[in-house]
Amino acid sequence: MKHPFALDNRLGADVRIAMILLFAALTVVGITPFAVMRALNGQWLAVALEVVMMLGIAACAGHAWRTRESAVAGSIIVVMVCTFYAALIVVLGPSVTPWVFVVVMANFMLAPRLLATGCSTVLIATALGMTSFAQPAAMATFAVASVLVMLFAFIFASLTEVQRTLLESLVIRDPLTGIGNRRSMEIELADALKGHLARGEPATVAVLDLDHFKQVNDRYGHDAGDRAIKGFADRVQACIRKRDRVFRLGGEEFVLLLPGTDHSGARVALEKVRDAVQAEPLVDQLRITTSIGAAMLEPDDDWPRWLARADSALYQAKDAGRDRVSFDGGLARPGERRLRLVAGRSQRSPEDD
Ligand code: GH3
Ligand code: MG
Ligand code: MG
Repeated sequence: MKHPFALDNRLGADVRIAMILLFAALTVVGITPFAVMRALNGQWLAVALEVVMMLGIAACAGHAWRTRESAVAGSIIVVMVCTFYAALIVVLGPSVTPWVFVVVMANFMLAPRLLATGCSTVLIATALGMTSFAQPAAMATFAVASVLVMLFAFIFASLTEVQRTLLESLVIRDPLTGIGNRRSMEIELADALKGHLARGEPATVAVLDLDHFKQVNDRYGHDAGDRAIKGFADRVQACIRKRDRVFRLGGEEFVLLLPGTDHSGARVALEKVRDAVQAEPLVDQLRITTSIGAAMLEPDDDWPRWLARADSALYQAKDAGRDRVSFDGGLARPGERRLRLVAGRSQRSPEDD
């Protein structure tokens, strides 16, 4: 089961993969001329170090590209580059020392801040210990400048992280309820479907719609309606398992994903949700009920079809009198159901009421 923040991690990983690929390309372009120059000068140990480092970076970049996994590749690159540059400083002396600034900056773009700080500190200490500076002032200048670069890179990486988290939350969270929005639902449903079908595990998806909600707005005002929607999301979250996921599809309609849950388990869970919603007022003295349509994952489902079957079951629950849970009978009319979902969420005809 994915961690609730799996989606955030994935979005972040994509940015880091781009950084890794860029870094790999720039490293090859930037270092190759120096390696050629050193080969012409017969500095074969340095050439070997540089070639091995470039091959290692290229291998990590290839791995990140193939697997879409950036954390390990980025961290290995940082450890590797710092180790090789420390070795190059020992072999070649002061001519390599200015590269420390570039490596320190890159560390914070490729790896978590803690690892970047540790590796950068070791590299700076090696440069200070192994380089024979012309004067003490030159050494002091290098020490202060490299620590400042590390500090700026750390602050910049921290600010970028805060902004990225904020942006991701705006993209995938519903502002009223704080739960996942339709976009994150689509991604997580597709992931869950793929994973569960591959493992042969059951899973159930449910569409929840508040009953007669137009009347709530009409009688108590839109603000009370909003608070009821927020109260509903909180109530549902309070009575589901940690691994279950709830999303706001739009308006007063929600989607509940129950991983690893078959028909009988889902019935128990969804009856619990339905009962919890109607048991106490959601806001002020406002008692609201909810109708729920559910569908168990079938082998030939894609996520829109799976969701459409749950949506169809919701219509049955509404038709049968509301405040109830209805399961999809497995009858497929996907074209029509999908159309309803895509067309919008308030398309129910008056004769449904
Ligand atoms: P039914 O039992 O058939 O679901 O009846 P309903 O009145 O709930 O009908 P429907 O689901 O079609 O209408 C949803 C209404 O919810 C329409 C709109 O007035 C209200 N609504 C949708 N989004 C929001 C929102 O963000 N805030 C508030 N306060 N009301 C909303
Ligand atoms: Mg409704
Ligand atoms: Mg509705």
